[in-house]
Amino acid sequence: MLKIRKIGDPVLRSKANKVNEINEDTKELVNKMIDTMYEAEGIGLAAPQVGILQAIIIVDLGNKLYKVINPEIIHKEGKTILEEGCLSIPEENGQVIRAKKIKLKGLNLEGKEIIIEAEDLLARAFQHEIDHLEGILFVDKKLGL
Ligand code: ZN
Repeated sequence: MLKIRKIGDPVLRSKANKVNEINEDTKELVNKMIDTMYEAEGIGLAAPQVGILQAIIIVDLGNKLYKVINPEIIHKEGKTILEEGCLSIPEENGQVIRAKKIKLKGLNLEGKEIIIEAEDLLARAFQHEIDHLEGILFVDKKLGL
């Protein structure tokens, strides 16, 4: 199991690097991230949250596990507000505005380009995790409600 970094750790404020080569180490890291996310009962995890500055995210709302390397949002539509939390910021929640629908592109673990269309909670989870790759945390965006 990997250690989940908590707010205050500078790694959470650093930008992740694009993955240039997907190799066995990448796959092993993704597998460890998956175990760590499930153990922590999270619905998403970004590599910087386990101290690794690589552009890798995983998301699973309970019915499908997404693993995306070098994710990039290529389309956003609409707005929604919902409460969010984060494994790196225990015991804090906040209302955050996010796009309602998104389209993202990235690579799968075989290095093939994938396009994912998501809306509502799934779109939110992707946006939250992709923010982690830029060193952005939900508390930066949280509304003062
Ligand atoms: Zn988070």
